[in-house]
Amino acid sequence: MKILVYAQETQSYVEALRQVAPDAEIHGASTLEEAEPYLEETEALFAWGVRTETFARMPRLRWIQWLGAGVDMIVRQLPADVALTRTVGAFSTVMAEHVFAYLLALRRGVFEMRAMQQDHVWRRLTGTSLQGQRLGVAGLGSIGSEVARVGRAFGMEIWGLSRTPQGRGVCDRHFTPGEMPEFAAGVDALVLVLPATPETDGIVDRNVLSGMREGSILINVGRGNAVVERDLVAALRAGRPAMAQLDVFEREPLPPESPLWDLPNCFISAHSSGPSEPHLVRSFAAANLQRFLTGEPLVGLVDPKRGY
Ligand code: NDP
Repeated sequence: MKILVYAQETQSYVEALRQVAPDAEIHGASTLEEAEPYLEETEALFAWGVRTETFARMPRLRWIQWLGAGVDMIVRQLPADVALTRTVGAFSTVMAEHVFAYLLALRRGVFEMRAMQQDHVWRRLTGTSLQGQRLGVAGLGSIGSEVARVGRAFGMEIWGLSRTPQGRGVCDRHFTPGEMPEFAAGVDALVLVLPATPETDGIVDRNVLSGMREGSILINVGRGNAVVERDLVAALRAGRPAMAQLDVFEREPLPPESPLWDLPNCFISAHSSGPSEPHLVRSFAAANLQRFLTGEPLVGLVDPKRGY
């Protein structure tokens, strides 16, 4: 079997894959030039950041293991007879930590305390507790369900929204996409962990935002397509939601002229909530290769029609 690893750092992946497929011919490439000699023969591609035009030059390609969780950048260009798997489980813990780092900091007043320290101001600030608040998680997949689990550990009531009832087990109440306005209006913190698909485009718009609770927080760690940014700017200026933490944007990098940068109630991170945990991605990829070789069902198989 001929395998190509296309990523920024390839050596550790090549070694991990060799462990499970000692007979395979495995090459690593970080640029198209480096990949060039192997494209024609490659049967399995382990990749992140590869240009989709490259697929047309890989006539023997049967399987792509994407070294990330979101596949929106390649799924529409996937050749018909190629299986695509995404990475599952490597991002859940760290992304839930990101969500709760901000939720706790915002509810406990960490940013205000720091500002007061800078001004040498001694004033007691007690903040509010997550306990008893209602957390809404839109997208109850591998990451969203972990956010829900941690929220429950903080004593939060969990509402969840997903396309099908599949993830409903982690929530106290489950909603479907058509119920987004009612769902968003009922929660104290709304966390979006949705894939980018035509159906999630603009799912959080002016209508949804205007119904959000006083004091509520919106966090988006899924994809920027879900939120209509123009509407969010207006909503944050109007104070509903009261605050937003955005990790993903309609355009990335977020253009310097975006009004989001300067809104005092908007907290920006640069697509940083899910830093790849290379050892977890590597071991997931190697385990999937093992399954491929033994004919077991692959984990993280993407349905190209659904788009995730
Ligand atoms: P999963 O595929 O495991 O879960 C996706 C969830 O979204 C499922 O619950 C699914 O519902 C739901 N969903 C899909 N379409 C809709 C819709 N139209 N309306 C409502 N719910 C919908 O994905 P992961 O949890 O692993 O990852 C989620 C996304 O997070 C990724 O697609 C990626 O874009 C993003 N991500 C961002 C990172 C970052 O650095 N910011 C890092 C990693 C991932 P159902 O199960 O019913 O189909």
